[in-house]
Amino acid sequence: MTVHLGEDGRREELARNLDAVRQRVERACAAAGRDPADVTTIVVTKTFPSADVRVLWELGVRDVAENRDQEARGKVAELHGLPDLRWHFVGRLQTNKAGSVAAYADVVHSVDRLRLVRALDRGAGAAGRRLGCLVQISLDGDTRRGGIAAEGAPDVAAAVAAAENLTLLGVMAVAPLGEDPAAAFGRLTRISNELRPDHPNAGWISAGMSGDLEQAVAAGATHLRVGAAVLGSRPPLR
Ligand SMILES: *Cc1c(COP(=O)(O)O)cnc(C)c1O
Repeated sequence: MTVHLGEDGRREELARNLDAVRQRVERACAAAGRDPADVTTIVVTKTFPSADVRVLWELGVRDVAENRDQEARGKVAELHGLPDLRWHFVGRLQTNKAGSVAAYADVVHSVDRLRLVRALDRGAGAAGRRLGCLVQISLDGDTRRGGIAAEGAPDVAAAVAAAENLTLLGVMAVAPLGEDPAAAFGRLTRISNELRPDHPNAGWISAGMSGDLEQAVAAGATHLRVGAAVLGSRPPLR
């Protein structure tokens, strides 16, 4: 955070931003003929302190996301015991961090390879927990930014569904750079539809961030991952 507001000022700012995002989601739902109750906004709190997460919780937020294991683990420990707060992990995940993430995350959005499925399953089993998983799709096939190409999605989905301690919830994607997000999110919805005959309960479509949540809602997203529009801009070096 660059601006140092008092605690009350920060609360007001977060409340105002949450309200603005809520209005954007409601307008996008109205335009798409969708019920806002079918769209969950996950607030991406990466780089912001656990004090902000606590204020968000007090303001009614129950879903927050992080993208780095070490940072997430610290915040979960600091906020241990906030009732009904769900932690989503949305970042690229190294296999050797899977056990750590499986011990606190409720949902991992970035499952993009079989080795990671096995590591998350082992980690969840060791922690005695069940972990929700989304298969992250690379919508332009450039897997350097995370995600598996669309052709590989059925195998990863099947592996998650077969894993003892994992629940397949659906699919996730980030809009590719330099492409109309509406078209890209449309492809994600098609991939979701193609997986559904084999996985009828895997209905989550996690898509849309601060800059493209309207396009995601129009394409059928069920979960939005919104950071900057709620918390403000992050330091650029991430
Ligand atoms: C940071 C991040 C977001 C939120 O992006 P904003 O532009 O701040 O809304 C969403 N998804 C993923 C995977 C992220 O890493």
